[in-house]
Amino acid sequence: MSTAIVTGASRGIGKACAIQLAKAGYDIAVNYVSNEAAAMSVVEEIESLGRKALAVQADTADLKAVQAMFRTIGKEFDSIDVLVNNAGVVDDKYLLMLPEDSLERSLDINIKGYFHCAQNAALKMMRKRKGCIINVSSVSSIVAIPGQSVYSATKGAVNAMTATLAKELAQYGIRVNAVAPGFIATDMIQQIPEEQREEHLKEVPLGRFGEAEEVGKLVCALCSDDMAYITGQTIIMDGGLSL
Ligand code: NAP
Repeated sequence: MSTAIVTGASRGIGKACAIQLAKAGYDIAVNYVSNEAAAMSVVEEIESLGRKALAVQADTADLKAVQAMFRTIGKEFDSIDVLVNNAGVVDDKYLLMLPEDSLERSLDINIKGYFHCAQNAALKMMRKRKGCIINVSSVSSIVAIPGQSVYSATKGAVNAMTATLAKELAQYGIRVNAVAPGFIATDMIQQIPEEQREEHLKEVPLGRFGEAEEVGKLVCALCSDDMAYITGQTIIMDGGLSL
């Protein structure tokens, strides 16, 4: 039986990844930070697909909480075959109006959180000499959007860590890739004022925002053995925004 852990799986892109992986036959650990009801409804949806699911609360920025989460998962599941590092935050601020706590929180969740989970998952994958880590990055890692200097820096770090970890972990049969979505219709982009959203939409050649399900399908495909020769890559899915 194969198992996947998806961080930030109670909503949005993480939820879509969890559902697609469940459809592909994985049992799923559904991580969330505060929205237990949403996580439980994802668990129910996965169970209705005939797979096992477990909701696990942890702030991925907190190493001890992540370690405890992996211990809990270890009691329920024999292995971890896939990690989707997805839990992330955006807090757009111009440089001169950037509060220290916002900076720290973004760095802690979007970068340190990914390392915490990768470290814990890789340890389990190494024993099996097989595994797949997907880091959810963003097109903001390569396209400059005013107000997103911190967010884009964290996602640029994700692309860089992806390549290096891929090289480090290949010897253990672990592949590491990133997906970099453009604007995807989730709660996250609801934070953007409507007028600004309309402006962003004009920049997308395909003329629409992406769906979380589309990202979930890409993540799922990258985890399949059909993609066994791809590692260290950042795959952009942005409707042409970055062209
Ligand atoms: P979202 O709708 O805001 O959902 C965020 C998810 O992350 C929720 O499940 C939330 O849990 C969880 N989360 C937040 N902080 C956490 C923490 N410290 N520890 C554990 N879980 C935490 O976000 P989204 O749009 O799906 O984005 C998911 C990922 O895709 C992020 O990494 C984001 O940067 C990236 N991305 C998004 C877009 C986009 O346009 N939406 C584009 C490019 C990249 P609770 O429900 O418990 O709060």
